[in-house]
Amino acid sequence: MKFATKTIHAGIHPDPLTGAVMTPIYQTSTYAQESPGKHKGYEYARTQNPTRDVLQANLAALENGKFGYCFASGLAATDVMMKLLKPHDEVISTNDLYGGTYRIFRRVFEKYGIKFHFVDMTDLKQIEAAMNANTRLIWIETPTNPLVRIVDIQAVTALAKTKNVLTVVDNTFATPYCQTPLDLGADFVVHSATKYLNGHSDVIMGAIITNHEEYAQEIKFLQNACGAVPSPHDCFLVLRGVKTLHLRMAAHDQNGRKVAEYLSKHPKIDTVYYPGLVSHPQHEIAKKQMRIFGGMMSFTLKTDSLETSFRVMEKLQLFTLAESLGGVESLCGHPASMTHGSIPREERLKSGLKDSLIRLSVGVEDVEDLIADLEQAIG
Ligand SMILES: *Cc1c(COP(=O)(O)O)cnc(C)c1O
Repeated sequence: MKFATKTIHAGIHPDPLTGAVMTPIYQTSTYAQESPGKHKGYEYARTQNPTRDVLQANLAALENGKFGYCFASGLAATDVMMKLLKPHDEVISTNDLYGGTYRIFRRVFEKYGIKFHFVDMTDLKQIEAAMNANTRLIWIETPTNPLVRIVDIQAVTALAKTKNVLTVVDNTFATPYCQTPLDLGADFVVHSATKYLNGHSDVIMGAIITNHEEYAQEIKFLQNACGAVPSPHDCFLVLRGVKTLHLRMAAHDQNGRKVAEYLSKHPKIDTVYYPGLVSHPQHEIAKKQMRIFGGMMSFTLKTDSLETSFRVMEKLQLFTLAESLGGVESLCGHPASMTHGSIPREERLKSGLKDSLIRLSVGVEDVEDLIADLEQAIG
């Protein structure tokens, strides 16, 4: 099945009871049993829910994976990934990482004896230098957040395999429409389905997809044992959102390219971070592993001051100043004080995240209106 067919059909079948074409919302906490242990495969809704089952099968198919699991948030999915590890295990991750992922690593899992290394993953040598006998997992985010750097998934997973190290790709920014990390050698894909997968800014949800049966069993165990499951209604909403993922992503990409092009020619703008620009340092890798470049980008102004950036964000009308990304509506954000506020300033600056950086999630509105909005705000 091709991608556009999968978004609409994979894992989805008419409801066995009524023939309802749309997957019903099974809003129940429990299921009747005929006799103790004799039931239809559903016992308790933390463990199994038919609406969730359908979404899990759908997302697994989109990522070319066999097993998919959904969670109450992207971070709940990350939490379960970390619970596959044990004390003294070490994790290597990128120094340009979603702030919440950094926070759960440093402030939650370090306490349990897991050690984290943050390196510039566009440089394989830095990954190699951080590896040792305890390295268990490499956590890749690409494009990275908020500097939109591109990590060569194939190169990193190949390196990991030589040392028996597992690899995870946070595919939130790219989505499976744009890249399928399992095909490039990754062991796991993690999503904040809150973003592009749902696409309508009305759900918080996460997912893990893998082809490893043993780890899948363990993830399923943790999903039930730790209990951060999504609601049936939210599963329904994400299922509905995913049906247009391919249409939305193509539109985000078209608008993204035009906005990046416009910004890169603007006299008041210093740097535009967008993998679709030929000037992007990893443009060639992006072309190799991504089908499209999407709608996420960042930029800095020549007047590198907090004040000027704040004025631009206050003046923007169509780009709503808000956390999050990946919805049909355009958003702008200030990573240093918002999504990445939990990373110490020295570390932010060391990894290249300037205080004045503005991040855009370019939506699917008419691009001429979006550019006009940027024009009046930047001046
Ligand atoms: C938002 C986000 C997360 C966390 O997901 P939540 O659904 O907010 O818990 C993880 N990774 C990336 C790249 C994100 O943008």
